[in-house]
Amino acid sequence: MSRWKIDVNQGACVGSGMCAGTAPEHFRLDGAAASAISEEIDAHDGVIDAADSCPVEAILVRELVGGKVVAPVD
Ligand code: SF4
Repeated sequence: MSRWKIDVNQGACVGSGMCAGTAPEHFRLDGAAASAISEEIDAHDGVIDAADSCPVEAILVRELVGGKVVAPVD
């Protein structure tokens, strides 16, 4: 199974809560900004959905080995 790394740009995050609503096992809202519950995870489709649904593209998901971008996709 692939391992992924999640980066949340808290400066860009507008606190919509979409990510925590879409993948609550991977994101939480801390006050006005979201963060990843764990930055290194096993591949999980819900994380892609969360990154794609973020209105400001503040969530970047990459393969842990090699750094290839998994989401968001254009
Ligand atoms: S979906 Fe994006 S803007 Fe909304 S809380 Fe998550 S990271 Fe922040």
